[in-house]
Amino acid sequence: MDQQPTAIVIGAGLGGIATAARLARSGFSVTVLEKNELPGGRASQIVRDGHRFDVGPTLFLMPEVWEDTYAALGENLADHLDLQRIDPTYTVHFEDGLRLQLTSNLGVMQKQLEAVEKTAFTGFLSYIAEGSRHYKLSVEKFLGRNFRNIFEYFSLRNLPLIFQLKALAKHYANTGRFFKDERLKAVFTFQNMYLGLSPFDAPATYSLLQYTELAEGVWYPMGGMYRAVESLVGIAEKLGVKFLYNSAVREIKVDGSRVRSVITDDGRELFADIFVGNADLPYIYKELLPEGRQSRQLEDKRYTCSTIMFYWAVDKRYPQLAHHNVFLGGDYRASFDRIFKDNDLPDEPSFYVHAPARTDPAAAPDGQDTLYVLVPVGHLDSSQPQDWDERVQRARRTVIGRLAHEMGIHDLEQHIKFETIYQPETWKQRFNLAKGAAFGLSHNFMQVGYLRPKNRHPRYGNLYFAGASTHPGTGLPIVLLSARLTTQRILEEWKFAAVPRRSENPRSTVTMKDGYGAE
Ligand SMILES: Cc1cc2nc3c(=O)[nH]c(=O)nc-3n(C[C@H](O)[C@H](O)[C@H](O)COP(=O)(O)OP(=O)(O)OC[C@H]3O[C@@H](n4cnc5c(N)ncnc54)[C@H](O)[C@@H]3O)c2cc1C
Repeated sequence: MDQQPTAIVIGAGLGGIATAARLARSGFSVTVLEKNELPGGRASQIVRDGHRFDVGPTLFLMPEVWEDTYAALGENLADHLDLQRIDPTYTVHFEDGLRLQLTSNLGVMQKQLEAVEKTAFTGFLSYIAEGSRHYKLSVEKFLGRNFRNIFEYFSLRNLPLIFQLKALAKHYANTGRFFKDERLKAVFTFQNMYLGLSPFDAPATYSLLQYTELAEGVWYPMGGMYRAVESLVGIAEKLGVKFLYNSAVREIKVDGSRVRSVITDDGRELFADIFVGNADLPYIYKELLPEGRQSRQLEDKRYTCSTIMFYWAVDKRYPQLAHHNVFLGGDYRASFDRIFKDNDLPDEPSFYVHAPARTDPAAAPDGQDTLYVLVPVGHLDSSQPQDWDERVQRARRTVIGRLAHEMGIHDLEQHIKFETIYQPETWKQRFNLAKGAAFGLSHNFMQVGYLRPKNRHPRYGNLYFAGASTHPGTGLPIVLLSARLTTQRILEEWKFAAVPRRSENPRSTVTMKDGYGAE
């Protein structure tokens, strides 16, 4: 009988954790190497003096994809996470004073929308119906499967889907078929920012996001999004996965057409049968693998935007704020141009405020607040000088100013006990995100499906990828799908593996030069 095959996963982001757990459940002996002191990557957390901040994701979407992951690991999601539905999903604030609460309560939506535009509610129903079609077709035909060759992707059967999914139409322009008022077009397209895309550039396919939010709901796991990370790490450990923190990989060693080992920052060398790169894919090609054509091609791809983040611990509670609050800036189109064309901070930035203590009082000490502010900005751009400290100060002034002016929050600055700030350089340094692009590679037509970097390296047959910059893309549930597809591919290919199995190759076990682990 064959010995147990071994796998090394580089990175303990959600994609790495889920792939590691799935591989362990399929019989692999798995070690995860994580550069930071805790798992979760972009979905990690900051805890200080009773204030608990989720670092990146705050919207728990597509619960059925999460349920599928737990089920595949022999577990039941409900035994691990206490999910609360957040409805209204967000309160959206416009500079002219209009406020809209997005909700799945149709009566409330009707009243609000018709107050802005007489026919908007009918438009809304048609828009959500289209989003539902896009969602179902996308999950079934594109997001939930591997493409092995271009013919599978552009097959005769798939071609009509490009039109059914409106993959060549622009989202903002398409929204004009349902709404005339510019504010309504904005309120149903700004969510493209989760994918790090401008709605003026994003395919109209992405109306699927609005559908999932309103029909399937925006959820929040009590204890914060990081609870989901902790629970999956716990399950992975139960399945035998070994997590090594503060263990950055500094080099991937190759031998012909396969990866032989990885070298960590402190000089340990670890061997395995297969390797999974969960760290950002363009970074792995550029910084960890031998130089090659692909890494230069990746440099020229399009990247998502970055963000400036303020994590504020406040010694006072502001009941004016809802759980999710969106403040849209004045010139909608110009603001996306500043972000995506100029790689800069818009003149009138939009921003999002997460105030989880409304739902989860333990997120802040009694009577106090834990506020997370996200301001979308361009990514790092080496072709021009970028003064991020100045941009951070300007973003801060905008946020404080609008909260004062529109919410009556005049004393925020006096009540901030401490703050943590992330800006594009932080995303790059802390998580090795190429160009500091917070959501990874972009999701335009030329960078999705078969056209997105594959979840297996074209040359090194035992190097796979799972995470936001490979297929299918960014967002926690999509990254969970990536883990599923990558594991599926490994298991299928392992049966016919070109690489020798451990029984034929005594060096292919997880082994460290310093004597850690068994040869
Ligand atoms: C501000 C923000 C808000 C977001 N909001 C949402 C949301 O509301 N809902 C949602 O679903 N999604 C959201 N997302 C997207 C979501 O967070 C990501 O798509 C997802 O977390 C990516 O997971 P990943 O496993 O691909 O990568 P990552 O989380 O980046 O994990 C990769 C891991 O690899 C590690 N690593 C890097 N280099 C090395 C190395 N050399 N050696 C060892 N380890 C290494 C990193 O430290 C990291 O832990 C948001 C993202 C951001 C940034």
